[in-house]
Amino acid sequence: MRTSRHGLITIGALLAVLVALLAYPEWLLKNLRRDAYGANSNRAQGAVIELAQIGDEASIRTLCELFEETGDETLRELIRTLLLHHSRMLPTYPPAHAPGGPVEPVLRLGGRLLLLLDGDIPERVQEQLLVALSKRLGLPCVVEPCPVSLAGLPKNDLGAADAEMMINLVARHVVGEVGRVLIVTRRELWATGRPWTPGMAHGFGATAVLSIGALDPTRDGGPEDWERYARRLENVAVQALGHTLLRTDLDCPRAECVMHRVASPAELDALAADFCRICGPLVRDGIRRITYGATAERAPH
Ligand SMILES: [Zn+2]
Repeated sequence: MRTSRHGLITIGALLAVLVALLAYPEWLLKNLRRDAYGANSNRAQGAVIELAQIGDEASIRTLCELFEETGDETLRELIRTLLLHHSRMLPTYPPAHAPGGPVEPVLRLGGRLLLLLDGDIPERVQEQLLVALSKRLGLPCVVEPCPVSLAGLPKNDLGAADAEMMINLVARHVVGEVGRVLIVTRRELWATGRPWTPGMAHGFGATAVLSIGALDPTRDGGPEDWERYARRLENVAVQALGHTLLRTDLDCPRAECVMHRVASPAELDALAADFCRICGPLVRDGIRRITYGATAERAPH
């Protein structure tokens, strides 16, 4: 009887230790936010060092968040070192999913929007996105070729690529981003639970994808209509990036919002261009965090 009680106590204690260990980075971050850059900067520094020593994905993410919030430049190098170290530990995709093989991550810090072009994207489309997105989101845009081949991603029966895997794959190559990333591809996409996927973001990531192939009005034999095409590109890109700024996968229930779910080209054509009064301030808040986290001149908080 005594032995089994001891056994139970031991198991209970082990479980408590496990729970404590799992919650530890979270607790550290809470303390950090309280102490950080205020009354107790020594303790904040200690917590940063501890997070760095834990060095797992969650700790790195919390350090990135902290960098976004505080703009503390000393965190930048620390995150960079951790990411480089961590990327070597990450499980690699099966060869078929990573035709380029493992690539050293490219660290980009700064309140920018990075458009990553997957293959040949028409100049006109690039230009439309650059102008529209810098205007609508107020973030400076940079265009670069996608750093990894997306040809080997698994496809569904209709030949559409797995959007979530695409985002995950690219996000691994552009890490530490406090701005936002938009993959621009001709490939058709699919995602679980979505009848139509012209664009997508998922989780709390900074990366979204836009499929231009799905948006071209001539795709289903319709007449050429650049205005319509341009408006579709813009709204799907804004919606996908909006999710990364709102940090949610959920679509807005309000029909008057650009974040409202669309399930077909016709619904997209009828979609409102603006954010609603709920999403608008939240998106602006997300942009502000990116911008202030990326520059030395921050608003006081
Ligand atoms: Zn909304």
